[in-house]
Amino acid sequence: MSTAPTPALPPLREVIAAHGLSASKALGQNFLLDEQLLGRVAAVPGDLAGQRVYEVGPGPGGLTRALLRAGAEVSVVERDARCLPALAEIAEAFPGRLNIQEGDALAAQPDLAPPFHIVANLPYNIGTALLVRWLGGESWPQGWASLTLMFQKEVADRIVAAPGDKHYGRLSVLAQWRSTARLAMKVHRSAFTPPPKVMSAVVHILPAAMPEGLRFAVLEKLTAAAFGQRRKMLRQSLKGLPGGLDALNATGIDPTRRAETLSVEEFVQVARVLSS
Ligand code: SAM
Repeated sequence: MSTAPTPALPPLREVIAAHGLSASKALGQNFLLDEQLLGRVAAVPGDLAGQRVYEVGPGPGGLTRALLRAGAEVSVVERDARCLPALAEIAEAFPGRLNIQEGDALAAQPDLAPPFHIVANLPYNIGTALLVRWLGGESWPQGWASLTLMFQKEVADRIVAAPGDKHYGRLSVLAQWRSTARLAMKVHRSAFTPPPKVMSAVVHILPAAMPEGLRFAVLEKLTAAAFGQRRKMLRQSLKGLPGGLDALNATGIDPTRRAETLSVEEFVQVARVLSS
């Protein structure tokens, strides 16, 4: 991997102390300070030299530095204004390569020309909403070339789960019907400051070919209905979904099965009939 020159920056602990960045629970702030670990996270998408990267929630900028050191051009959106001076110092050390937006990632859009990679240690309270947004939309692929996202381990397990796995659910189907999703690395809770209650993991998602003949919005409604009552048979859980039971019949899927036994391909088949 080619690496850019690495300007000297103070250790992250000093940055946090100098800028008074006491962690806010409400903003899901659990910072990563181990530069070696951050380098490993930044390596998950592959060689980033000359690539564009969008990062949500840079905080004091540990991951941001790692991405810049890997040679990327980085654009960040951070809600906590207290972090902006620390990020400005990083921008100064990497002239013209770091763009900083202050704001709510849920209201912001990546301000980068596609294709770009999305890499983030996500705040736990908006992580799933952002993921569903990036996986959503009717046109495919979207602007991103890959997603490298740190989640609570339990959420990561749900994203990559296969049918029959206890974690398999709506998020698994939405992440796998037109993408591939894998668990790239586990991260111990003790790696964070302050340590969260649970373990974390990095998920790596790549766009794949989109199956034809169905709409995302339909698949989203179908999976919400099917997994809304995951212990129930499909004939029960799909009762409230207009056309749901007919679509099951048309695909020949046994209505006494439960959602957790259907493969991603079977969900696609049912959504295709519902979309037509
Ligand atoms: N990237 C840093 C790291 O790895 O140490 C910080 C990660 S911390 C888990 C999540 C970050 O997201 C915090 O800096 C927090 O302020 C920021 N954040 C929380 N809610 C946000 C939002 N709605 N939009 C943008 N950033 C947000």
